[in-house]
Amino acid sequence: MSIPLAIMSAMEGELRAILFQLTRPKKISVGQRDFWFGQWHGHDVVAVLSRIGKVAAATTATALVERFGVREIVFTGVAGGLGLGVAVGDVVVAKHFLQHDLDVSPLFPRYEVPLYGRSRFNTDNDLSQALALAAQNVLADPVGLLGAPTVREFSMEVPRLHCGLIISGDRFVSSTTESVALQQALPDALAVEMEGAAVAQVCHDYGIPFAAVRTISDRADDGAHHDFNRFMDRVASRYSAAIVGEMLRR
Ligand code: SAH
Repeated sequence: MSIPLAIMSAMEGELRAILFQLTRPKKISVGQRDFWFGQWHGHDVVAVLSRIGKVAAATTATALVERFGVREIVFTGVAGGLGLGVAVGDVVVAKHFLQHDLDVSPLFPRYEVPLYGRSRFNTDNDLSQALALAAQNVLADPVGLLGAPTVREFSMEVPRLHCGLIISGDRFVSSTTESVALQQALPDALAVEMEGAAVAQVCHDYGIPFAAVRTISDRADDGAHHDFNRFMDRVASRYSAAIVGEMLRR
């Protein structure tokens, strides 16, 4: 087996959809996590649940690098839309990540990670471009992938792809007050989630190419909680598997 590409997902539903695509998946358990090795479109891959939150995701990413020597990490998950026009059913490919709940001021500028001299961590250009191309292809035909009733239910007739800043923090943002505050503080943030910036930092430390794709499951507002679980099952897990599959196929 060659050095595997890692696929991390935050949610069980997404991991299940991905495992379904692997030929003869074999499990190795380390540190309370199950790492699934298999092949997908002829590539050696390892798929794992990141678990939710920055610490869990950083631990998982570190295990992937230290224990299994992966060559690249791709993260697939859902996120709350923040940017203007970033709607439920849209997809965001990250160009950079920032931890919105990190604040060591006044010792360091707000959001800056101490000793790194920076608040933003870039994703890998080539890998992100491959992911964006795959997402563009998948988004071209939502009815083909999800069926007309689901597309109608979530009003996602014309889903769009966005590329830019995703912010992460250890909170599920589910109030309009908080999401407006984040939009004002970080006007270029497209979406908010709970893992990406942690994985980006680990990949920066080890020099591992990293890319992330997030389907918008909610608008991080007062309605976020209600939208979430229904959307996971019907849309997000299918998008994840389709986008990563399309990337590997190309
Ligand atoms: N109900 C889920 C918990 C979801 S936590 C369960 O039972 O397991 C939310 C997950 O989706 C995190 O992995 C986070 O990265 C992402 N996410 C989606 N919308 C979000 C939002 N509005 N704020 C923060 N994270 C969000």
